[in-house]
Amino acid sequence: MKIGILSQNANLYSTRRLREACEQRGHEAVVINALRCYMNINSVQPSIHFEGHDVVGIDAIIPRIGADITFYGCSVLRQFEMMNVFSINQSIAISRSRDKLRSLQLLSRKGVGMPITGFASKPDDVKDLIKMVGGTPVVIKLLEGTQGIGVVLAETQKAAESVIEAFMGLKANIMIQEYIAEAGGADIRCFVLGDKVIASMKRQAAEGEFRSNLHRGGSASLVRITPEERRTAVAAAKAMGLNVAGVDLLRSNRGPLIMEVNSSPGLEGIEHATGKDIAGMIIEYIEKHAAKKRRQQQQ
Ligand code: ADP
Ligand code: MG
Repeated sequence: MKIGILSQNANLYSTRRLREACEQRGHEAVVINALRCYMNINSVQPSIHFEGHDVVGIDAIIPRIGADITFYGCSVLRQFEMMNVFSINQSIAISRSRDKLRSLQLLSRKGVGMPITGFASKPDDVKDLIKMVGGTPVVIKLLEGTQGIGVVLAETQKAAESVIEAFMGLKANIMIQEYIAEAGGADIRCFVLGDKVIASMKRQAAEGEFRSNLHRGGSASLVRITPEERRTAVAAAKAMGLNVAGVDLLRSNRGPLIMEVNSSPGLEGIEHATGKDIAGMIIEYIEKHAAKKRRQQQQ
């Protein structure tokens, strides 16, 4: 097969590993930078051009769309879908997962556990907003944040009010969440492929920190997850419609609670923590499912 990896940087660990895995399994891999693509949208023969040529003969796409280019990246991916190219994650599922409010609303509709969460833009009653999620301590998050930046733990009412007011002043949309203290500064990353969790790791925050992000000094280790955690992670990926997902959950007294579902989960941390060939498993999944799609089209 000819497999296209939609990625802005061929040197990133995940992109490199996916390319290697393609080649090891006898496929051709091409790295396509979505931002450099231009598209011809018509009803007879939609096409995509990249580096001056028509992109043809691609059997499957692995989208690795950065959070900063979600809109254009998903448009390019949608164009491949219009050309009947198999994509391991569909553009609609990626757009859904990039909107944190929409994601949590979808998860709650499916009954997947999550911390009590409030959303606000310019709340007219900050005290009531804090009360709504069960009072302090609360975690306040900027909607656009990643890698732990923009995630604040407010332990007292005064601190919570001033942080919310400061974020309001920045005209930012915020999320305010019950603080899961018993998680002890750790979260679990479940790597979902299809309807299975194929790898998982625990990320523990550095001393004195509650955010477990590796970018904030957290450390990763192997972890055995419970059947309930497994079911919850798979249900979360399914609710978003993602075949590949990094599902982050917190261990709470009332069971696993979903924090976020990532549609382009990184491979470096999880491959190192588990020693598993995740890239190879992704290509194997594509071999099975892209072929199935082709058979269905021929019928
Ligand atoms: P980001 O998208 O920036 O990674 P997260 O929502 O994943 O933001 O939060 C960063 C980290 O903060 C999480 O990995 C977790 O360790 C901690 N955290 C986030 N929300 C909560 C919460 N409600 N209770 C306890 N810890 C939390
Ligand atoms: Mg996170």
